[in-house]
Parts: sequence; C-alpha cells; structure tokens
Amino acid sequence: MLTKWTGSAGGPIWIRPAWPENEVRAAFSFRKGGVSEAPFASLNVGFHVGDKPECVIENRRRCAAAVGGQLEDMVVPEQVHGTGVAVVTRDDRGRGSVPDTPPIPDVDGVITNVPGLTLMVMAADCVPLLFYDRAHRAIGAAHSGWRGTVGHIAREMLTRMQMTYETQPQDVEVWLGPSIRQCCYEVDDRVADPVRAGFGTAPLLTRFGKPGKYLLSLQTCIQADLRQAGVPESQIHDTGVCTACHPEALFSHRAEHGKTGRLLGVIRLPSPS
Ligand SMILES: [Zn+2]
Repeated sequence: MLTKWTGSAGGPIWIRPAWPENEVRAAFSFRKGGVSEAPFASLNVGFHVGDKPECVIENRRRCAAAVGGQLEDMVVPEQVHGTGVAVVTRDDRGRGSVPDTPPIPDVDGVITNVPGLTLMVMAADCVPLLFYDRAHRAIGAAHSGWRGTVGHIAREMLTRMQMTYETQPQDVEVWLGPSIRQCCYEVDDRVADPVRAGFGTAPLLTRFGKPGKYLLSLQTCIQADLRQAGVPESQIHDTGVCTACHPEALFSHRAEHGKTGRLLGVIRLPSPS
C-alpha cells in the first residue's frame, strides 16, 4: 500500500498518503502527539466533546503544521451527517478553526483549489475522506458516517469538484482514513435497510445466531460509489485501519462508549514559493 507512517516509540502519530509533497500535503492523525488528558488523550481535535479548548487549539496547531499550514489557515465543515459540500475560497480562511469562529454550516464536505488553505474533517469511527485532483490542482475533505455514506457523499464530492473545477474522476485520488470497519461495526435493520437499498448486500455480513444484526463495511460502500463515478480502482486507497480494534492508538466512539476525542483528516495545497 502506498502509505507513509510517522511515529515514535509510543506508536504512530500520522498516516500519510504517498502523494508528492510539493503538490499536495495530507495526513490522518492518531491519538498520540497531543496535549489533551484522558479521555481525550492526547491529540483530540474536537471542541464539542468536552475537552479543554486551549488543548484542542494546541492540538489543531500541531495538525496544521503536519501539512505545512497554520491554525489560522484551517477551514472546518460543521459535520451534520448530511451530504452537503461547500466550495471554500480565500474568504473562508479560518472558519471553524477556533471556538469563536463557527464552522461552515450544514455541510460534511469541503473542496477548494486555493493554495495555503487547510481543509480538515473530524471523525471517531466515521470515515474521513481526502480527495486530490492532480489535473486541476483541487482538493477535498469529507466526513462519511453511515448516513453520509448512504446519502452518497463520496459521489457528491466528485460531482461538486466536477462542477466547480472541471474535475474528471479519472484524475482523482481518494484516501479512506482510519475508521470503524466490518470487524467491529454491528448494525441493525435501521441501518442495514438503506445500505441494501443503495449498495446491495455486498457491504453486509449476517451475524450467525443474532437475527437482525449485521456487520457493515462503510468502506465497501464508499469504494463502490467512487468506482461507479469513474475513479480508477488503482486511485482508491484505503488506510485499512480499524478505530474500534485499536482504541489505544485511535479515537473510537463505539469502543469507548461515546467518551472520547476526535482524530482528523487534513489536506492542503502548498502555497507557491
Ligand atoms: Zn475492528
């Protein structure tokens, strides 16, 4: 897999797509390397989970720096488990980066072609997605939980990039970040029914001896959407890491019963030097 890991003896801190860093910088975070205390230890980037704001600000600073940016460059979507995507321009710089600047409302995805802006999405089991259009130098970040996945937010991102930047799916690379996977993601018919309607039975495993319970692969759904939209298989990359299997290394809402932090997916086009 074309992936670069960065870490220390204490474990991994970043997983990065192996994209040329002079073209685009991107990363997914782990738990380590931040300043928050339990249950948010230590690199929590979510203000809304009950952590100290000054800790989250410092953690976000470190995350922005990991892609060569600054906290002030960050742009954050509200993340409402929808499928809305916002086009981010220079005027949006800093939106959602600190508690007194609200995030971009009602959207779960953001796209831009402005160098220097740092797009970020948060997750703790939901799938963070990063998009890079090599031909038009455009990027995107999206949060895809089961509702967003069933709503086809992955396809919506490509559609908006196409409308805005003339992006062609064959030029796009997509990364699926650390997220809960089929090994750990038990759902009932409330979730399984819309998944079957949108994606068939392939993403669902029936649980033996547990009627009405299934193991769901959000990643299978998202990859199917991307392939159907025309992204070549070889340009769909999955980090393959399960948050719920590794709560010591990653934040998992389910494994930690809701009391935990948020990891992030972050992407930035370098400023011209
Ligand atoms: Zn797992």
